Amino acid sequence: MRNYKLKCKKCGAVVEESGITPHEHCTDSLYVADYNDHQFAVKDISSIWKFNWLPVGSPEFLQPGPAVYKSEGLAGKLGLNNLYIAFNGYWPERGAEITTCTFKEFEAAVVLENARTNDINGMVVASAGNTARAFAHLSTVSSIPVIIVVPRMCLFEMWYLEASLKIPTIVLAEGDYSNAIDLAKRIAMVMDYPFEGGVKNIAKRDGLGLVLLEAVSKIGKLPDRYFQAVGSGTGAVAVWEMAGRFLRDGRFGWKLPSLHLAQNLPFAPMTKAWNNGSRRLAKEDLDPDLIAQITTRVISNRYPAYSVQGGVYDALLATKGKMYGIENDDVFAAMELFEKSEGIDIVPAAGVAVAALEDAVKNNHVDKNDTILLNITGGGENRLRKDMKTHRVKPAFISKDISDDDLKEFMCNLLKTD
Ligand SMILES: [Zn+2]
Repeated sequence: MRNYKLKCKKCGAVVEESGITPHEHCTDSLYVADYNDHQFAVKDISSIWKFNWLPVGSPEFLQPGPAVYKSEGLAGKLGLNNLYIAFNGYWPERGAEITTCTFKEFEAAVVLENARTNDINGMVVASAGNTARAFAHLSTVSSIPVIIVVPRMCLFEMWYLEASLKIPTIVLAEGDYSNAIDLAKRIAMVMDYPFEGGVKNIAKRDGLGLVLLEAVSKIGKLPDRYFQAVGSGTGAVAVWEMAGRFLRDGRFGWKLPSLHLAQNLPFAPMTKAWNNGSRRLAKEDLDPDLIAQITTRVISNRYPAYSVQGGVYDALLATKGKMYGIENDDVFAAMELFEKSEGIDIVPAAGVAVAALEDAVKNNHVDKNDTILLNITGGGENRLRKDMKTHRVKPAFISKDISDDDLKEFMCNLLKTD
């Protein structure tokens, strides 16, 4: 039995339809999960399934969660008194056991378990690399099949843990993350297999939003400010939605956390649109050539959930948020600052968030006593390699110009030999 109803974010109507992405109720709007429990509750177990605000039944596998702790090192460097870090990665000394080193692992776990709850056994996933790792791992852990599509430019993100190597992984020979999304949708169509649904999938959002569940359960209240690097914006929308549930609960604060979101210049379409006061992304800011110039390909989505009703624009508006554009050099400097002050390596996307926090401190966008939650969306890859062997994936390459018939044949052969 489902523990939630689907609600249209535009008109508030309740929709009974099931599936990963039900048909749109209002054009250009998202659904949100309206949980039967309006009070936040945490069971006394160590897996993420301890939280009642996740759209899942009775999961059969354990899934470790984020490690949230009060910072001393970085907080001291920045002169902040209440900086909390949500570390999503591998750092066993801190109790962080995410072996794919990315917060996308929560998304994968919740999406796959939600699919099982809806009697859907498998799906096609498009990824900028980190999501692929997460889904390959969770497909292995949960025994729910997935097919993964990644653009070649994200291949360097494509390391798998040994057991996940058997997951069919297709690399799009040309193009970027957004082209991989298009190809994944085509594969779903010709194979009659569900597509994961992107930001429209409520399980994806609530899986990412569980970072806030862990943070509130540790801090005891909502943070004043929330920092994260954004590509599709799904994680940020997720945190805004989770925060709304806490407000309705009433025991954790009366104000939504301000979202402080960051992108890597020069590919920063949401930053540029927001700073222009626009709900629409400018075409020239979505130029694929800009993606080649950034260091953080995992946040290079040309189809972000920005303009859609209930998307990033609305989240920024509702939370009096801010957007930051971070240069490559500042990303590297921030990664180094974090490692020196906190004692663990982080991925470039997390460096973007750290740099945004530095910028906010410098320009007085935050007060030193604010309760701040910094989402380190990935880290501990170097630490992991001391304990475990990682492997390069051997993908099957495909061209985006392939015909539907050839695509079907290619897929059938791939799945057969696997
Ligand atoms: Zn509606």
